[in-house]
Amino acid sequence: MIELRTPAEIEAMRPAGRFVASVLVAVREAASVGTNLLELDAIAHQMIRDAGAESCYIDYHPSFGGSPFGKVICTSINDAVLHGLPHDYVIADGDIVSIDFAASIDGWVCDSAISFVSGTADPEDLRIITATEEALVAGIAAATVGNAIGDISAAIGDVADAYGYGVNLDFGGHGVGREMHGDPHVPNDGRPGRGYKLREGLVIAIEPWFMRDTDEIFTDADGWTLRSADGSRGAHSEHTIAITANGPVVLTARV
Ligand code: MG
Repeated sequence: MIELRTPAEIEAMRPAGRFVASVLVAVREAASVGTNLLELDAIAHQMIRDAGAESCYIDYHPSFGGSPFGKVICTSINDAVLHGLPHDYVIADGDIVSIDFAASIDGWVCDSAISFVSGTADPEDLRIITATEEALVAGIAAATVGNAIGDISAAIGDVADAYGYGVNLDFGGHGVGREMHGDPHVPNDGRPGRGYKLREGLVIAIEPWFMRDTDEIFTDADGWTLRSADGSRGAHSEHTIAITANGPVVLTARV
């Protein structure tokens, strides 16, 4: 079921959006060559406690997950592209680090993700990160009243095409509100004009993620981390946005 939010409800989501953004900024600042992924999770966990927020991940146990997630951020490194389970790993020079984070404040969820390189960057890694960021911007720009979900999907897919990256359609954006994942699904490629017509009050996460040389993934032995089928590296960018009469509003803007 697709739920629409009143302007007052969208305002009520802003603290969660600001909080999620602040955690991503703090984790990015803490993530250097030599940092253990478990330290990053601990930083986010302490920020959750300090803010009186609630993690959306720690007890998360969907049908595709092997067990409750148990951590508060996703840390996806290099060929790990989504749902990376933080583990005892020290960031190496040149790693692509993707951090995905969702939390609720006062019962309202926001969800956002960033990717960056720690240390010396391979230009190809910067290129794929830039592609996901540009796709996110394009997808948000298409999230206007009167457009359809397919317009967002097509805008993202066009950027992937321009960069020469394939798109995996198994995981994409989603409705956000009282729960982390709701309707509608927002695929990262599609046809303009198709699907649900966007209306004022729709709140969705838009989250392009691409891999360099494949559009196939597999699940790591940890039961969560999704890796590219061929070991090629990926990147992921995500914001939670509200569609308003005045256009899309990014609730998780990192300002
Ligand atoms: Mg997310």
